[in-house]
Amino acid sequence: MKIYNTLSARKEDFQPLEEGKVRMYVCGPTVYNLIHIGNARPMIVFDTVRRYLEHKGYDVNFVSNFTDVDDKIIKKALEEGVDPSVISERYIEECKKDMAGMNVRPATTHPKATEEIDGMIEMIRTLIDKGFAYAAEDGTVYFRTRKFKQYGKLSHKNLDDLQGGMRSLLVSGEDQKEDPLDFVLWKPKKEGEPYWESPWCDGRPGWHIECSVMSKKYLGEQIDIHAGGEDLVFPHHENEIAQSEAANGKEFSKYWMHNAFLNIDNRKMSKSLGNFKTVRDISETYDLQVLRFFMLSAHYRSPLNFSAPLMESAKTSLERIVTCASNLNFGIENAKTDALSEEEAELLKEAEKFTVQFDEAMDDDFNTADAITAVFDLVRFINSNTDEGSSAAFLTKLKEELLMLCDILGLIVERKEESLDAQVEELIAKRQEARKNKDFAEADRIRDQLLGMGIVLEDTREGVKWKRKS
Ligand code: AMP
Ligand code: ZN
Repeated sequence: MKIYNTLSARKEDFQPLEEGKVRMYVCGPTVYNLIHIGNARPMIVFDTVRRYLEHKGYDVNFVSNFTDVDDKIIKKALEEGVDPSVISERYIEECKKDMAGMNVRPATTHPKATEEIDGMIEMIRTLIDKGFAYAAEDGTVYFRTRKFKQYGKLSHKNLDDLQGGMRSLLVSGEDQKEDPLDFVLWKPKKEGEPYWESPWCDGRPGWHIECSVMSKKYLGEQIDIHAGGEDLVFPHHENEIAQSEAANGKEFSKYWMHNAFLNIDNRKMSKSLGNFKTVRDISETYDLQVLRFFMLSAHYRSPLNFSAPLMESAKTSLERIVTCASNLNFGIENAKTDALSEEEAELLKEAEKFTVQFDEAMDDDFNTADAITAVFDLVRFINSNTDEGSSAAFLTKLKEELLMLCDILGLIVERKEESLDAQVEELIAKRQEARKNKDFAEADRIRDQLLGMGIVLEDTREGVKWKRKS
C-alpha cells in the first residue's frame, strides 16, 4: 500500500511503526460555527482512510481534536454575552450531528484543547529547559525556530526565504521576539478572555502546541499518520513538528497526509471569504450521502470544485448503486431457488476481480475516484448477470461484495426501511409547515426532494399520503 507523504514529496510504501497497528491524528475544526463543506472534506477523506486501513486488518487508533479556545470563539461569546464554553460545546454537538449525517465515525478520542492545558504547560516547560523556547518580558513564550535545524522540512521551505516574508508580517507586540521566525507557544490574557495560570503569565496557549500535546498524550511520542487540509502544512504542521521533535527528541510522524481544497468558483471555500456552504445547508436539499459520494469522486490530493451540476450528478450516480442494492434485496426475497448453479459459481469467481480492482485503487494512495469506478463496474456486472432466475445464494454473495466495498467508502446504499420512513415523515411535516406559511416554492421543493428519493405524495381529504414510486 502506498501513501503520498508530504514530508518526502513522494508516494512511499506504508509500513506502520508497530505491526498491525496504526496511530493516526487528524487536526479537527475550530468550533465557533456550523462546519462548512470545506471542513467536511478532511473529515470524509480521513474517515475513508481509516476505514480502508481497518479493512486491511489494522487496528487504528484515530485521534481528532476540537479547538475550543480561539479568538473567533471568544469573539462570538462576547457577541452573545455567554461563556466561550457555551459556544464551543454548542458547535461540537452540531459538528457531531453533521459527522453522523455524513457517516463519519467518531474518533477513538476527540480531545478538547481546554482540557489539555496542563500537558501544554509541561511541554512548553520542557522546550524552555532544552533551550528551544524562551519567555519574553510580558510573559509571552516563543519557540526559537532557528534552533530547530530541520525547520521547513515538511513545507520544503528555506529558512532565509521565510525570514524575508516574516519580517513584513510582524505585528505590534511581537517586537519582543528574538527573531521574526519565532512563533507563540503561550500568550498573556486580555481583558474579558478566558485564561489559565502558568509559570510565565496568566494566559492561554498558542494554537500549534495543542496538537503536539494531544497527539503525544493519546498516541505516544511517535505516530504513523498525521493529517489535515493542505492549508495546515505551513505553518501549523511545520510548527507541530518543531515542537514535538524538539521536546521528545524523536521523529514525530512517519507519514504526513494533506487533502487539497474544496473550492467554489475555483476559490478555496472558507469562512473568512464568506463563500461557504455549511453541511447543514446541503442537508436541506440532499441526503448527506450524496455529499460524501461527491467528495470521494475526486482523489483527495486534487482540488475539487463544488457546483450544483456536480452534486446532481453525484446524486444520480449514487442512486444507481442504491437501486442495484435494492434490486438485489428484491431478488433475494423473491428468488425461486436457494441453490447456487455452476454457472453462478463461475460468475462469482469472476466478480471477485472488482474487489481486486477496488483494492488496487485504494492501495495507490487511496484513489477513491478509481475505487468508485470499480464499484460501478461491479454494479454493471450485477445488472447484466442477474435476472428473475438467479438464486438467492448468488444474489446474496453479490450483495455482500457490493455492500462491503460501499462500506469501506462509508457509503450507505441500503436504507433501513424505518429510517427512510422517519425521514419521509419529517419532510412531509416540513412541507405542510411551508404550505401553512404560504411558502409554495419551498413546498414544491420538498415535494421534488421526496420525488428524488422515490417517494410520491398524494394530497387526500384525510391528509397527505405517500407511497414508493413503482
Ligand atoms: P479550521 O476549522 O479552519 O481549522 O479547519 C478544519 C479543517 O478543515 C482543517 O484540516 C483545514 O485544512 C480543513 N479545511 C478548511 N477549509 C477547507 C477547504 N476549503 N477545503 C479543504 N479543506 C479545508
Ligand atoms: Zn493540528
